[in-house]
This record gives sequence, C-alpha cells and structure tokens, in this order.
Amino acid sequence: MVKQKTVIEAVVVSGIGVHSGDPASVCIKPAPADSGIRFVRTDLPGMPEVVTRPEAVHSTAQATVLGGDGFTIATTEHCLAALAGFEIDNAVVEVDGGELPIGDGSAQPWIDALQKAGSAEQDAPREFIVITERIVYGDDETFAELTPHDGLRISCSIAFSHRRIGDQSLTLDVNPQSFRREIGPARTFGFLKDRERAKAMGIGLGASLDNTVVLDDAGILNVGGLRFPDEFVRHKMLDALGDLAVLGKPLRGHLQARRSGHELMQGLVRKIAASPGSFRRETFEELPGDGRRQQA
Ligand SMILES: [Zn+2]
Repeated sequence: MVKQKTVIEAVVVSGIGVHSGDPASVCIKPAPADSGIRFVRTDLPGMPEVVTRPEAVHSTAQATVLGGDGFTIATTEHCLAALAGFEIDNAVVEVDGGELPIGDGSAQPWIDALQKAGSAEQDAPREFIVITERIVYGDDETFAELTPHDGLRISCSIAFSHRRIGDQSLTLDVNPQSFRREIGPARTFGFLKDRERAKAMGIGLGASLDNTVVLDDAGILNVGGLRFPDEFVRHKMLDALGDLAVLGKPLRGHLQARRSGHELMQGLVRKIAASPGSFRRETFEELPGDGRRQQA
C-alpha cells in the first residue's frame, strides 16, 4: 500500500516576508494521518487554523494567500511546493504572523528544513487525485491544462520580451529527487522598473537581491547571476506545484501551463474541484508508471 507521510521532527524556518517586510518564523510539526497540511496563526488569539484545500484560498494577486474566518496567511506557495515535492501529506505549519518567510526566494530553505525533519510513513493509504479527462482553464495566450498521466508531470512555458528571459519551456516528472535537483532551488524574479510602483502599493516591501532575481534593461543585477540558465521557467514550475498542492491531495496527471501565474493556477484548481467527472480519488498498492524505479 502506498501510505501517507508526515515529518519526523519539528523544524523551524525564519526570515522576512517578501511582501510585508516583517520578520517571520515558521515551525513545521508532525501531524496525524488524514489531517492534511494545516496552517496555524500562533500570533493571534485562539490560534486560528486553516487546512490546505481549494476553498481555503483567500487571494492570489502576488502570492497564494490562504485564509479563514478573519485571518490570512500569505506566500504559502514555496512551502506547499516543498511539502508536495517531499510527498508530505500531513503536517502542522505554525506561523507567527501573516506571511511565511521568503528565504532566498526559492524552495531551498524549506528543502533544507524538510531534509532535517525527515519523513515517515503513516498507517493510512495515500489518496491521489487521478485525472481521467482533460481539464483546461484560461485562453489561447495564458492557459493551464491537465490531461491523464501515470505520475505527476509538469510542462511550463513562458515568454518575456526581456532578452535574458525570452521564451523558455521545460518538462519535468516530479518526484522528491527531481524536485530537489531541478526546480526547488529556482528563485523568484522581478524587474527593477516595477519595483517602485510595487512598493508604493505595499507589495514586495521585503524584496531584495537576497530573495529575488532582479533584472534591469541591461541584465541581471544579482552578483553570481543565475542558478540555472532557465531559472525563470523553473521557478514557474515550482510555483505551479505549490498551487496544485492547494488541492490538498497529491495529483496524478500532466499539467501543461503557458504564461501561468498564481491566479491562473488557482483558477485551474477551482475548476478541478468543480469537475468531479474529470478525476477519481484512488489509493494504490503500488504506483504504476513510477519513474523512480527506472532511475534507481
Ligand atoms: Zn514563487
């Protein structure tokens, strides 16, 4: 039986929120089977909590913001991507403020923390959302499409007029190894010309060269340049994985996304949730078409 997993030890990730600029500390703890990924605001009276699922998405303007009755938790996507990448089904994520720390702008701080935490199987089957019919959201220019596939495969493409980005596309079969190696370390990016306007709107107050790949008209401002020649599309894939994790269950299907963002991906997630005829919930004795066995 393919079983659910949780973390073994509690681990802490600290830093600042990229949008608020405020200090933030997160503690990821083990949780019982069938409890899902539960975010808790430890700084608020009564410590309100929200379980990760499509109805918990509060907004998607600059980040994936989850929320409940009278509270929100922003910038959850890289943490959720790492938990999904590590195949963690159940965890409590305690946050001492309204936004998760951004770290270096990639999933690396979460990868380091989860590697330290370790993971263990639980005595309950892992339930997958298995795509059985095509689901598409968006228009000709900007869309996300899911089709049946034995495993989780993500194909992303982006098109920017900036000469250092241009057209990039990549396909990845997602498993813990490929996640850690290929998309987890890819950082978020932004354009210097947008910075003042964003700050005036109260967005990206904590953004800096420490947590964002910054481009001006001439090129990349970060000392040390890029981690991958196509780091930009890899970060889009990381964000897409985090956004799919909002389903609350691991997905088996092929995502093809063009010019995606959080808004588009959450539109797709809502459409999946509203299309019960296009997927089935399934547990497995053994995973068919699992790429890991061929790699081992
Ligand atoms: Zn991101």
